Amino acid sequence: MPDWLAHVLAAAILWKLLIHKFNFDSKFIPIIMVGALIPDAEKMGLLLYVLAEIDIGYFLKPLHSIFGSILLAGIISLFFYDSKRIMTILCLGIGTHLSLDLLMSHITGGEILLLFPFSFNMYQLNLIQTDNYFPALITVLLAFLIIIYERISRHNKDTSGSS
Ligand SMILES: [Zn+2]
Repeated sequence: MPDWLAHVLAAAILWKLLIHKFNFDSKFIPIIMVGALIPDAEKMGLLLYVLAEIDIGYFLKPLHSIFGSILLAGIISLFFYDSKRIMTILCLGIGTHLSLDLLMSHITGGEILLLFPFSFNMYQLNLIQTDNYFPALITVLLAFLIIIYERISRHNKDTSGSS
């Protein structure tokens, strides 16, 4: 998998593009970033295994599927007043995460239970090796470019407005 930095930044970049295209609100960027981490909630099993030697990895594995992630996003969105909007944004984040993970090439033969609960087959496109750090570097570079572009745009708007 691309690391969590790539997942979070890819989701933030997607939201920034949607802000520019559809005038979405930038206050929801943290929500889409959380959505981009929901599928890897299954990794909490690793933490539990390391800390208490309790192995619930197979129990949590369905969280790394479309169905499991959307189910968890639905539960999370219930804690918000505007739950439908939050659910939609979380699902966008989930989409970026699973799309990036689908590009990976895992030694185990895949990481995503794409058709769960109808199938337990793991899927992958074998385009990027799991130890390749270029996806993270590209997303960091894109995020910096967007930040620089926004600062220049804001500076130009401020200077043209003051004269
Ligand atoms: Zn993942």
